[in-house]
Amino acid sequence: MGLFTFKGGVHPLENKISTENRNIEKMIEPKKVYISLLQHIGSPLEPIVKIGDIVKKGEKIAESKATLSAPVHSSVSGKVIKIERMPFPVNGKINTIIIENDEQEDWIELNPVSDYTKLSKEELLNIIKECGIVGLGGAAFPTSVKLNPSNDVIIDTLIINASECEPYLNADNRVIIENTAEVIKGIKIMKYILGAKKAIIGIENNKKEAYTKLLEYLKNSEDISVALLKTKYPQGGEKQLIKAILNRVVKVKQLPSSVGVIVQNISTAKAIHDAVILGKPLIERVVTVSGNGVSNPKNLLVKIGTLFREILDYCEVDYEKTVKIISGGPMMGISQYTVDVPAIKGTSGILAFTKEEARRSEPHSCISCGKCITACPMNLLPVMFAKLATFEKWENLEEYNIMDCIECGSCAYICPSHRPLTEGIKIGKAKLRGMKK
Ligand code: SF4
Ligand code: SF4
Repeated sequence: MGLFTFKGGVHPLENKISTENRNIEKMIEPKKVYISLLQHIGSPLEPIVKIGDIVKKGEKIAESKATLSAPVHSSVSGKVIKIERMPFPVNGKINTIIIENDEQEDWIELNPVSDYTKLSKEELLNIIKECGIVGLGGAAFPTSVKLNPSNDVIIDTLIINASECEPYLNADNRVIIENTAEVIKGIKIMKYILGAKKAIIGIENNKKEAYTKLLEYLKNSEDISVALLKTKYPQGGEKQLIKAILNRVVKVKQLPSSVGVIVQNISTAKAIHDAVILGKPLIERVVTVSGNGVSNPKNLLVKIGTLFREILDYCEVDYEKTVKIISGGPMMGISQYTVDVPAIKGTSGILAFTKEEARRSEPHSCISCGKCITACPMNLLPVMFAKLATFEKWENLEEYNIMDCIECGSCAYICPSHRPLTEGIKIGKAKLRGMKK
């Protein structure tokens, strides 16, 4: 059988080898945690604790009344010592609750659910919301909102994104291998909430061990299957997965639910298992720490709020060799100007790049080769975005559907003239949003 895939995309060097066979390792206890009050797409949170409060591990410490939000919880037991603005990995500063760890691991009272089918959809969504679950693939969309599409759509298929198509990253890969049963239970819970007939796990063909594990666990399953995908970037994009697996096209400005599909990341399935079956809020996640600046690359189970500096020190980063630190993968990740930022729910990777890895060639004039158009998985015209941005014709960008760009960076990656296409697109989108305010 042929591999599932989509049109366009690129083949960056995978660079996964240094961590793909490394078991998930628990990071040593941080002395303090720094919990950012914006770790999801949506409204920032307000603290519900104050300086001097003693908090338990798993205790809710900030929330928002907005629907598009997810509360945060203390990842340690200890004392709230400061609430102040500090840098966070999405850039800029955000209000942050700083907690001194008493290292007692004193948990809140947990409410595990032994049989989730005895609960209603609303009760399960409430658990997922209260446990602060967001999409762990990097986008951090509140999961309780995504699992609750409007009543006028019928969801027949839940697609689970296990492609982890960004180079270097192995966090999802290791979660599948080491937590297969929990991941599948999480998928069953989501499928039950959505009332979907089937779930399909999409995984790239460079993850043989994870693929085999899933097949083993699902050999008697009739409603959860695995689709083997060609290894290609950005295979994990929602619209690319839906086209590759179901041959359905999500139109411009439409959501996956418009074609009867919801897409969730595979580590999110594990978080949902932990929330419902164990009663545990999202207070830790697996982070791949890699790049040639790291002497001891790892897949680390990290408490939310642990500083990048401590994580990098634990993996023996060589600051002499390192010229660039990235949160996430090299294609869509965000460069950091300081390592004194905390891990947040969306931190899938921390990469320390040497000069060689971070090398960026000087841009030249466009040679009209059209390679960026061929590579674009969204059928857009990146070269046109660049031209319109150069002449500041912001209003014309919308006609070319710039808002449909998923900022995957494939166009910039393939461009032989090294045009900074993604940067231009990001500026153009920001200008358009500004014009609409
Ligand atoms: S235009 Fe957007 S979606 Fe298309 S390749 Fe460039 S970054 Fe990706
Ligand atoms: S790939 Fe680069 S050089 Fe080729 S058309 Fe696109 S912007 Fe121009």
